[in-house]
Amino acid sequence: MITGHLGIAAAARSFSREPMGSILFVALLLAAIVPDAVDALYWVIDICSPYGLYSHTTYAVALEAAIIGGLAFLATRSRGVTLTFVLVVLLHSPADYFTGRKLFVPGGEMLGLRMYERPIVDWMLEVPLVIAGWWLLRRSGRSPRWAASVWAIVALVLLQATLDAFVIGRGRSLKPNGCPVVTSPVGA
Ligand SMILES: [Zn+2]
Repeated sequence: MITGHLGIAAAARSFSREPMGSILFVALLLAAIVPDAVDALYWVIDICSPYGLYSHTTYAVALEAAIIGGLAFLATRSRGVTLTFVLVVLLHSPADYFTGRKLFVPGGEMLGLRMYERPIVDWMLEVPLVIAGWWLLRRSGRSPRWAASVWAIVALVLLQATLDAFVIGRGRSLKPNGCPVVTSPVGA
């Protein structure tokens, strides 16, 4: 999942009463894709983490959520903000369940509905999700002005359409990874 993660973060923000400036809101959007950022880090340092083993499985996500929550608490001293960050990180893998196919428990089965194999289906899932998140956030009046703008959602819908049209479903992994060629994890 790609822009759908941002929709989830926007929705989470809309339900939190805590004040959150632009920088914190951008940090929350980034928190929604932390497991993917961790995958990118593994690639940079050449570690093979097949099928999200060290980034998307239960223990990895719990650890990532704890670290991000800790940072959020240090930065804001707000329990509400911290909980919002933790929740957004924890929701990453359940969201990926729909689009990809990966490990959820180390040594467990590969799970996922693999919508990436049908980009139109992926688009029909992610676009309503990101629009719903944007709409909730806009309606809540808790959004930075740029994020509540129509341009923001138009850009995200176009981004998702471009990815679905030209990148997703082409049979290759979305993410570079440090694994031998035989294992080519389906990115998400
Ligand atoms: Zn992911």
